[in-house]
Amino acid sequence: MSDDSPSPTDLFKDIDLDRYRVKHGAIVDLAKIDPQETSAFDGSRDEAQERFKALLERLDTLQELLFAENKHRVLIVVQAMDCGGKDGVISSVFEGVDPAGVNVASFKVPSSVEIAHDYLWRVHPHVPGNGEMTIFNRSHYEDVLIVRVLELVPEARWSKRYDHIKAFEQLLVDEGTTIIKFFLHITKDEQAERLRDRIAKPQKRWKFKMGDLETRKRWDDYMKAYEVAIGRTSTADAPWYVIPANRNWYRDLMCISILVRALENLAMAYPEVEAGVEGVVIE
Ligand code: AMP
Ligand code: MG
Repeated sequence: MSDDSPSPTDLFKDIDLDRYRVKHGAIVDLAKIDPQETSAFDGSRDEAQERFKALLERLDTLQELLFAENKHRVLIVVQAMDCGGKDGVISSVFEGVDPAGVNVASFKVPSSVEIAHDYLWRVHPHVPGNGEMTIFNRSHYEDVLIVRVLELVPEARWSKRYDHIKAFEQLLVDEGTTIIKFFLHITKDEQAERLRDRIAKPQKRWKFKMGDLETRKRWDDYMKAYEVAIGRTSTADAPWYVIPANRNWYRDLMCISILVRALENLAMAYPEVEAGVEGVVIE
């Protein structure tokens, strides 16, 4: 970084990031969290954009450091309803990082082989290794969301999964993984607008699935499933953040700030340089 760049922590120190963090055991009421609000950040939209640009640069530096140090592992879980902005936040927040150290794993309807195993079987191979950052675009949480709403397995099975998931994530944390979980919270009206936009634009139409309409009809059931999942699995070590996501710029600013803060907290350092490197003359 050049000398006149802002000190890293200045980039988000005036943003109230913990406003959206869900405390362990909290009763989550999504109706009380307004997807439209932008109040954790005081500045204007222009200032937000400036801030976002600086945070992108900082994230790039930190990700390079993560890769170089080869010690920590970072897992970011992104969940949302259809059109909630999962793809959007992933492409904007990670646009500046080095693809060599960052992976995205997208979890779709399980294949016949996947469904023939326990629900974490397909997930575990994708968790990040040392120096890596992995983004889950949907995740094992689908197994207590769509699976619960559509009763794809009996309640006696899915109801035990919250505890499995907590234990699984704690295992990852205990072994050196930092976990951040984002729920991108949009309103049903905003989803309607975005679905209409998807259908109207030929280059977006492929994203629209007829099944999205069935999911939309069960909106309230999904909100309930999210509330239970988030409340039961937000821990000090693997916290959920409910991000107001009707406005893309605000969603992006909150997510990147939370991520950069988590990376700063790792207090990473470049590995020791081999003895004698400083005096080396390349002929
Ligand atoms: P998309 O992310 O829009 O491409 O859609 C992927 C679809 O796969 C969504 O409808 C998810 O709910 C669904 N899906 C993901 N994981 C599971 C799962 N474990 N069981 C059933 N459906 C799932
Ligand atoms: Mg979809």
